[in-house]
Amino acid sequence: MERDYDVIIVGGGGAGMSAAITAADAHARVLLVDADKKLGGSTALSGGVYYAAGTAQQRARGYLNDSADALFEYYMTLNQYRVEASLARRLCDGAADGLAWLTDLGVEFRPEDLYASGVESVPRGHAALGNGAAIAAALEREVSRRAIDVALNTRVSGLVTAADGRVCGIRSGETTVTAGAVVVTTGGFGANPYLLHQHYPDAAATGDWAWYIGSSHCQGDGLSLGAAVGADIVGHNRGLLLTTPNFHRQLEVFVPGWLVYVNREGRRFVKETAEYAVMSGVVQAQTGGSCFALFDDAAKHAARPMAKYADAFAAGVLPLNWVTSELEAQERTGKVIRADTLDALAVRCGIRPGALEATVARYNADCEAGQDSMFFKAAEDLKPVLTPPFYAVEVRAAIICLTSTGLRIDRDAQVLDPRDHPIRGLFAGGETAGGVLGERYVGGGNSIANAIVFGRIAGTSAAAESRRND
Ligand SMILES: Cc1cc2nc3c(=O)[nH]c(=O)nc-3n(C[C@H](O)[C@H](O)[C@H](O)COP(=O)(O)OP(=O)(O)OC[C@H]3O[C@@H](n4cnc5c(N)ncnc54)[C@H](O)[C@@H]3O)c2cc1C
Repeated sequence: MERDYDVIIVGGGGAGMSAAITAADAHARVLLVDADKKLGGSTALSGGVYYAAGTAQQRARGYLNDSADALFEYYMTLNQYRVEASLARRLCDGAADGLAWLTDLGVEFRPEDLYASGVESVPRGHAALGNGAAIAAALEREVSRRAIDVALNTRVSGLVTAADGRVCGIRSGETTVTAGAVVVTTGGFGANPYLLHQHYPDAAATGDWAWYIGSSHCQGDGLSLGAAVGADIVGHNRGLLLTTPNFHRQLEVFVPGWLVYVNREGRRFVKETAEYAVMSGVVQAQTGGSCFALFDDAAKHAARPMAKYADAFAAGVLPLNWVTSELEAQERTGKVIRADTLDALAVRCGIRPGALEATVARYNADCEAGQDSMFFKAAEDLKPVLTPPFYAVEVRAAIICLTSTGLRIDRDAQVLDPRDHPIRGLFAGGETAGGVLGERYVGGGNSIANAIVFGRIAGTSAAAESRRND
């Protein structure tokens, strides 16, 4: 029977557009379908940081010895080997090439914007000029340059299978479209509270603190599409949560260094300026799954916007948590807890009595000595907690940035069933695929690298599969 397309891509974010371009370049006739009125998905909303090793940008900055091998070692160690090694290997091997590909498509990753976005010793976070919007725009431009059909405002509701079980098309409402292979790149399920409860209980457990910052169309459709044809779902309870004091629904990724984080035992437990890639996991691991940001009256009155947010704050486009006016406003709501003594503050917060005073005494001594003897926070961030009244704000990892429970795939983005058998004709990439991202986000850029690398692999594999089915 004549089919409508060689390859259909379901979801046109970073992974889907990469898959469409790659499949078209392999001479497949491609249909790209998206539920939204425009392409881009969460990729277009993102910070546009891309994590890779052995790149031209690193070399330009004098980091000559980083490599895919070193990245893989770091990836596996940080995840304590609880991640699918063959997928991590493929991502590490393909990340630098994916970055070069985006660069060729016109996305600017300037060497001077390279930074350590995880806990790596050699910087691997490549920040796109113009953020994720620039990555999405470059991909969309390439889609439009090719003979790729695009169907927007079209939510795919089912996959079509042949008598032998092979996936051979999609359904959207009453419409069926056939193809030699289908790639599912519908992103994550952050916008679907039911699936969050089912697959990401740590996110759901934060209750009304939880809020999702990605595309509202990312409802986990890829998981149900895949599951309906027998796909395995892996990577339970994985994704990336970001910390928040829950003042307002505004993403403020970086927090000022003068805050002192203590847990319910009354102890410091982390460098307060640690990268968000690891911070949320560390906060979640504390008793009660949260911590308190501590400061004194002098710090409250000196609280100014951090340099990177100052302009947007002054222009009124970015409300900020850690500035005097907001802290005073939140004192009235009770979210900033105040007491005249540290002991009284501990009681109000439910912190173990006694320990807080000792922690603060040590911290203040470190401030006076100009050296953080526990976590080596930068000297300029060390501000003593001396002047009453004292304040504490509960902080939880509750902002849902991305989810990474997803369809089980192999190195070639082929979707697998629970017995490791391929579901012929079905491929997946990006947030829809499970097993690539581990329990620990290895660094800012982990997810976009995953979307681009496995999106391209899925496009190549799907084009090859459709040729086999000719
Ligand atoms: C604010 C923010 C900042 C971030 N910053 C970074 C960063 O700097 N670096 C990083 O690595 N990661 C970052 N992330 C995460 C990263 O952007 C995403 O994980 C990644 O871009 C996901 O790409 P994707 O292609 O898998 O999904 P998406 O880009 O979300 O694309 C999925 C697409 O599928 C479509 N879709 C869904 N269901 C259907 C359906 N049934 N039928 C048809 N279409 C459907 C959606 O409309 C959407 O267009 C950030 C995320 C957010 C929200």
